[in-house]
Amino acid sequence: MEGYLVNPKNTIEILKKHNIRFQKRFGQNFLVDEHVMKKIISAAQITRDDCVLEIGPGIGTMTQFLCEAAGKVLAVEIDRTLIPVLEHTLSEYENVTVICGDILKQDINELSVRYNCGKPFKVVANLPYYITTPIIMGFLEKDAPVESITVMVQKEVAERMQAEPGSKAYGALSLAVAYYAEAYLVANVPKNCFIPRPNVASAVIRLKKYKEPPVKVKDKKHMFSIIRASFSQRRKTLCNGIKNSAELNYKREDVEAVLEKMGIDSDVRGETLTLTQFAQISDMLM
Ligand code: SAM
Repeated sequence: MEGYLVNPKNTIEILKKHNIRFQKRFGQNFLVDEHVMKKIISAAQITRDDCVLEIGPGIGTMTQFLCEAAGKVLAVEIDRTLIPVLEHTLSEYENVTVICGDILKQDINELSVRYNCGKPFKVVANLPYYITTPIIMGFLEKDAPVESITVMVQKEVAERMQAEPGSKAYGALSLAVAYYAEAYLVANVPKNCFIPRPNVASAVIRLKKYKEPPVKVKDKKHMFSIIRASFSQRRKTLCNGIKNSAELNYKREDVEAVLEKMGIDSDVRGETLTLTQFAQISDMLM
């Protein structure tokens, strides 16, 4: 085989050689567009000093590029049938370790101690779409040792991650991302850049984790409970959302009093409020 895996001919050749069938349940859509691949690698700003954590290397398409850019690559793949394929396609790289397992069950702190002297990883991946949000929110909320996350996701999820207040895509995910990281849309990616073609359009997004969150709040867990409550029933007002929440214990009058002090209408909906306003509401309710 000539060159990298990232084209339809070489990908199909490897899949046939190893008799691999796509596992839909693992969200397998392999990237076959070199132009998109190079955009991802360049956006990830990888140097030889970095250890990259790749989620779902598949047959090793992106891993080949990561190995050439980074000092070390740690790749976690759930599908055990792909492990022998990776041994073959990555045989010429000495700076890669492949772990067979579920990324959601890995202790990222322990991996960083073992493979990167306790320093943070740069995460780069073409993510399995069925678990995009748990993976990203898990890294952010648990304060995992990760300095940036450059990933292919569903276009709609990328839009939600960087949505502004008042827009249709704005919600709990937008606010969580805004609290933990600076988000930047790297590229939109059409369906024909993958084998097999996914049902949805994709986009590459880069999240650079803040050293300090952009807003100060007494209790971030409390703030995120309020955020979740106000978006759990999208067409309801903030007051009703909080009053009806099983996680919180406030009366309608408590929320109305806070909104009045802030000069906000009592029938306001969560979708128009900024992160700073949610932090204020959270602090004033406590
Ligand atoms: N990186 C390859 C590429 O770009 O062509 C494959 C990307 S494919 C969209 C997603 C990959 O994640 C698949 O290889 C799939 O088996 C793997 N995967 C799915 N769920 C996973 C999980 N929970 N933990 C680790 N890998 C997972």
